[in-house]
Amino acid sequence: MESDARGWFEREGLLRYSAFGDGTNDVVEDERMPLTALGPHDDDFVLAPNPDHTDYPGKPMREMSMEEYNTFMYRWFEAAVHAGDIRCVNCGKLIRDDDDLPDADTWDAIFIEKELVAWMVVHFDCKKQLPKKLKGMHPFELNPRDPPVYDLSRADVPIESD
Ligand SMILES: [Zn+2]
Repeated sequence: MESDARGWFEREGLLRYSAFGDGTNDVVEDERMPLTALGPHDDDFVLAPNPDHTDYPGKPMREMSMEEYNTFMYRWFEAAVHAGDIRCVNCGKLIRDDDDLPDADTWDAIFIEKELVAWMVVHFDCKKQLPKKLKGMHPFELNPRDPPVYDLSRADVPIESD
């Protein structure tokens, strides 16, 4: 199952590689899958979820475009926020689940594609501090867990235009 996700992430250029010597003449290549942050700490990182494991009513992952995967991730974050599992990646406060949030609690899901490839949730007011927070975060120093699994069978999927 994981190999399906890996193939898709590879196709989209979202894997990161590191080559290092192993003390002999061989060079070992290591790779990292894209991540999802459930909070501000290194141990809050999990692997990016596979839509095929969530009963998501959209396309199977292998047929998704990047935009379709981003839509899935937004729905996944909504479920995670509803479950009380998500903290702001900057300030660490619990992200609240409410239709009518005060300004200070409004949040957005964002995608970072640098050396670190990760989806995360941040308060609007915390976005400015985010580059500083993420500076120096390196995928090869993180040990992501498997993502929590949510039932997204009732998620809204936009009508496809193609
Ligand atoms: Zn925040």
